Amino acid sequence: MPDPDAKPLTGLIRPDRRALTLEEYQAGGGYAGLRAALKLEPGQVQHQVEKSNLRGRGGAGFFTGKKWGFVPMGQPELGPKYVVCNADEMEPGTMKDRWLLEGNPLQVIEGATIAAYAIEAKAAYIFLRWGYKKAQAAMLRAIAEAYGGRLLGRNILGSSFDLDVHLHVSAGRYMCGEEEGMLNALEGQRAVPRSKPPYAATSGLWGKPTAVNNVETLSCVPHILAHGPQWFLDLSHTSEGGTKIYGASGRVARPGLWELPMGTTVGEILHEHAGGMASGYALRGLLPGGGSTAFLTEKHVNVRMDFASVSTAGSNLGTGTMIVLDDRTCPVSMLISLEQFFARESCGWCTPCREGLPWVLKSLLEIEAGRGCDEDLQVLEEHARLLGPGNTFCALAPGAMMPLGSALQYFRGDIERHLSEHRCPWR
Ligand code: SF4
Repeated sequence: MPDPDAKPLTGLIRPDRRALTLEEYQAGGGYAGLRAALKLEPGQVQHQVEKSNLRGRGGAGFFTGKKWGFVPMGQPELGPKYVVCNADEMEPGTMKDRWLLEGNPLQVIEGATIAAYAIEAKAAYIFLRWGYKKAQAAMLRAIAEAYGGRLLGRNILGSSFDLDVHLHVSAGRYMCGEEEGMLNALEGQRAVPRSKPPYAATSGLWGKPTAVNNVETLSCVPHILAHGPQWFLDLSHTSEGGTKIYGASGRVARPGLWELPMGTTVGEILHEHAGGMASGYALRGLLPGGGSTAFLTEKHVNVRMDFASVSTAGSNLGTGTMIVLDDRTCPVSMLISLEQFFARESCGWCTPCREGLPWVLKSLLEIEAGRGCDEDLQVLEEHARLLGPGNTFCALAPGAMMPLGSALQYFRGDIERHLSEHRCPWR
């Protein structure tokens, strides 16, 4: 059984991920965080989270306490405020939130409850990926248990704080998990991004102040309140507090997920936890945090997997769940698989993404089929630049260009071989 003190997020989760009951959760320390929070003023709760240096685990990595601090406080004339938990996990290679949603849904609910108290919200929505059926059942049961235990509803734990939590099942598109698209979807509108500013903190759901936080982020919150910000900071190898759920997929010996100190190195995750490459395969590269991050290579094995260090190495921590490229897989075919996903999931709102991604895909398919020419390579290079940050309405297209741009840097020779040999060298 893992040590719950070293692995606060997952230490209590059963190997078969059968959800903890309220009784089991409380016996393991559950709801100590909320009890501690309710003894503080909402602003003090925000301050505790800010001091813990918790960075959002959805991928963007913004500081959670700071994010909550942007929500206007003590102004009842503004009307209701909301917390939205982003549980619409759909990035290729990412499955970490599923572990938390299925195994310990009450931890997510407790985190959302503390977040709601911290920003003075009285309603929270859990926006869940449509395909996570087991998580849906676990979450529904957990919400009912929390109401039954007077941990949701009126006068929570005998305080004057009220909160209702609603589960909303996503329509099943990638854009539903993008913050603004998610708010539109919750309002029953098409899941497209909104122009910013205003930001969700002041004008989110139904135009009201809203805090949007990821599942793993909210799961950290009860532990910060229960044990204090310094304890949370001490869990980490770096200045970014806490533990992190890391993962590895691809041809590694033991693909999986592990809760480890924030800042664990690429090499430790890959070699010690994932057991190294599967027999007969060698490492060529890895996307450190899902399909919309840039490749790192074997020269990056000592990079710490925290937001700042991975960014310095030229990529993004993203979700922290790496996709490994081995030496027997064609990099072009891996790119095709990723770009197919992003082209399919483009919401079509802006032209560069709607038209550009299918063009990228077509060029990659031509190259892989041995029919590519120098012009296709040029198309890829131009798109990696033109669909980059700042040129589209949301981060989907720039994210889709991260593996492409970095593959043009690290695997250019492999792409050029397709052109010169008029075939895929891996077939
Ligand atoms: S970048 Fe793509 S997904 Fe994002 S708004 Fe534009 S068309 Fe939609």
